[in-house]
Amino acid sequence: MDHFVVSARKYRPVTFDSVVGQSHITTTLKNAIRTNHLAQAFLFCGPRGVGKTTCARILAKTINCQNLGDDVEACGECESCVSFQNNASFNIHELDAASNNSVEDIRNLIDQVRYPPQTGKYKIYIIDEVHMLSQAAFNAFLKTLEEPPSYAIFILATTEKHKILPTILSRCQIFDFNRIQSKDIAHHLRDIANKEGINAEHEALELIGQKADGGLRDALSMFDLNVTFSTNNHLTYAAVLENLHILDYDYYFKITDALTAGSIARSLILFDEILRKGFDGHLFVIGLLEHFRNLLVCKDPATVTLLQVSESAERKYLEQSLMADLSFLLSALSITGQCDINYKSAKNQRLHVELCLMKLANLPQVLQLHSLAAVDETAKKKVEPQQSLNDAMMPSATPAVAAPQPVAPANGQANGSAYAQSTAQSVVQQAQPVQAVAYQQPAPQQAPSSRLKNTVSLTQSLAPPQQQPAKQAVAEPSTDYIAVSDSTKKEPLTLANLQRFWYEFSQKRLLAGNSTTEQITLNREIQLNETTIEIALDNDHQQDAVMNVRYELLGFLKSRLDAPKLDINPRVAPQEVNRLPYTPAEKFNFMAEKNPYLLELKQALGLDVDF
Ligand SMILES: [Zn+2]
Repeated sequence: MDHFVVSARKYRPVTFDSVVGQSHITTTLKNAIRTNHLAQAFLFCGPRGVGKTTCARILAKTINCQNLGDDVEACGECESCVSFQNNASFNIHELDAASNNSVEDIRNLIDQVRYPPQTGKYKIYIIDEVHMLSQAAFNAFLKTLEEPPSYAIFILATTEKHKILPTILSRCQIFDFNRIQSKDIAHHLRDIANKEGINAEHEALELIGQKADGGLRDALSMFDLNVTFSTNNHLTYAAVLENLHILDYDYYFKITDALTAGSIARSLILFDEILRKGFDGHLFVIGLLEHFRNLLVCKDPATVTLLQVSESAERKYLEQSLMADLSFLLSALSITGQCDINYKSAKNQRLHVELCLMKLANLPQVLQLHSLAAVDETAKKKVEPQQSLNDAMMPSATPAVAAPQPVAPANGQANGSAYAQSTAQSVVQQAQPVQAVAYQQPAPQQAPSSRLKNTVSLTQSLAPPQQQPAKQAVAEPSTDYIAVSDSTKKEPLTLANLQRFWYEFSQKRLLAGNSTTEQITLNREIQLNETTIEIALDNDHQQDAVMNVRYELLGFLKSRLDAPKLDINPRVAPQEVNRLPYTPAEKFNFMAEKNPYLLELKQALGLDVDF
């Protein structure tokens, strides 16, 4: 067996063009070299293993190259390039601040800066993990950084930019390195595999790319590990899963299939299999959440780009997302989210996850019954006059038949439109009570009625928190809706009535899946000043949220309250900052305010506040 060289070292890029996934930085550096506008101090920030030190070395080599090509890449043949390649150049000094962070270390470095390079034009000082330098070392370094000799270039690298002192930041040209996309990593690994004569499955490389989470060096060491374990230089997806101890995403597809088919048994058996393989229950729950999220994202062409998975997985996600409808996914996300939150506090964690799976497996049935009830009731309602309501509430009357909302059961065609047009959704909101009434008072037919009663109890036991406000809305007398369509019967404008309908509106918006900001603003305290609703907010962001729902809100309130001139005045009140005394002088003043004798004492004895 020949000597094994770690891929990260063997395939360290030697030209700017071969750096993976940081083209925004290499292009800028090349342009700076070409136009001779190179800064003297750089700060390279970014996660570990994304090419900071590599770029620093390439920069060092390139600016010292004796016959630089037109493409601003080092020739790799001249004396300087060769010595760089052999790690024998005297023009590059690297200091790892993680282990050499004392003043002495920095002084040694500064001493070297004094001597101009013997060969070549520049001396390059690379300080890795610069945030680890001690305070004293930083101060010693600052002077040199301020006025470096013309031949010296400093490249500081750090994973934690926020720990760098502003005095250092202001003296450096800052480059932020990206996390490398898993596709790019997989592509790079493919190149290496080809060069090394390793037969690797595409999925295997993609899996390593994802697991590396943006770090190429990590990806390369995982690649090496898997190559070492492989037989006949053959890298399979299954072997990589095994070696890196990753839960195969196929399990999530299988479990989701079981859940959408309503099979509690199959989902529990799959979960058992996962546990047997030694995977943590909590990680499974988190993975499942992510899986549902990915499926949800696939529902709309505009959001498919948010799917950060391999190509083969993307196809699978798109396929499965067709099978799972939107209301199932939203409810599933909510149930699984609760399971995730409560996992740590659960006494029996296995049972906790199993319960979650049972609820999920029961969802399709519940949702189906819901939609049956809704369709049934909508059909009934259609006979009743709907026109007055439409006229009062919406200028462009959307047929109330398209009512099903994402949270409430949605049938096939409503899915797309409900998701895509949240505005349309809110417009048809007033149709919500129609549905709400539906499962409160089952249709009078004999057979479905008993089933529908079941639905109610199931909803109550299974409804995720998101759906709970629905029940509150239902709790309102069902005649309410009819009373409204009779436009003569409106409530007088009082603060109590206003608050009641305001609350009702906010619950409706919550049900329609509004933003958190909007929900926060709707929960604020309101005041009534004649016919103007006063609401005090914290910031412009909240004000925008109110203005966005303004017409809808006023329309709703006017339909319930006898107040044709009703208006709303959201204003941003500056937050009262309760500032605590901080400096000694402030502390003294604060105490003297409480006890005036202190001031007398100070004057009598000629005392001063000690700073
Ligand atoms: Zn050269």
